[in-house]
Amino acid sequence: MLERTFCMIKPDALARGLKDQILGRIKEDGFNIIKEKELKMGRTDAQKLYAVHQGKSFYAGLVNFITSGPAYLMALEREDAVLELRKLMGATDPRQAAPGTLRSDFKEDNIFNSEGIMKNVIHGSDSVENAKYEISIFF
Ligand code: UDP
Ligand code: MG
Repeated sequence: MLERTFCMIKPDALARGLKDQILGRIKEDGFNIIKEKELKMGRTDAQKLYAVHQGKSFYAGLVNFITSGPAYLMALEREDAVLELRKLMGATDPRQAAPGTLRSDFKEDNIFNSEGIMKNVIHGSDSVENAKYEISIFF
């Protein structure tokens, strides 16, 4: 089904100058960019985006990481957008992501930041329902 998902090129990837390469891969994979903007996220929006992780050990560090610098936010559309973006991203831990996925292909030697947060270059919604919620926070 034609679907939309929320995608974010995370601050680690933007700081490394990977934006255009990652956008190229996303477009090559058949996604249309419906909405896009660069944003240094405020803490309130970060807490909304990661509300599902509240209470977990990595939550505070994750909010710090995602607000640490500009990110590139998008609403993307294609057939089965949610699942297809997750496939293109690869596993959460870049060391476990399959070759050919973004998280594998752009992984750093040291994937952890100073607070122990995994730097994995990209976020994608994990369900259609969450995609709608996440898009509504930013657009
Ligand atoms: N994360 C982390 N340590 C963990 C789990 C997650 O640093 O043990 C970070 C990582 O950057 C991840 C984000 O928190 O992308 C959100 O976690 P989630 O489990 O939702 O993974 P994702 O949906 O991004 O694959
Ligand atoms: Mg997630």
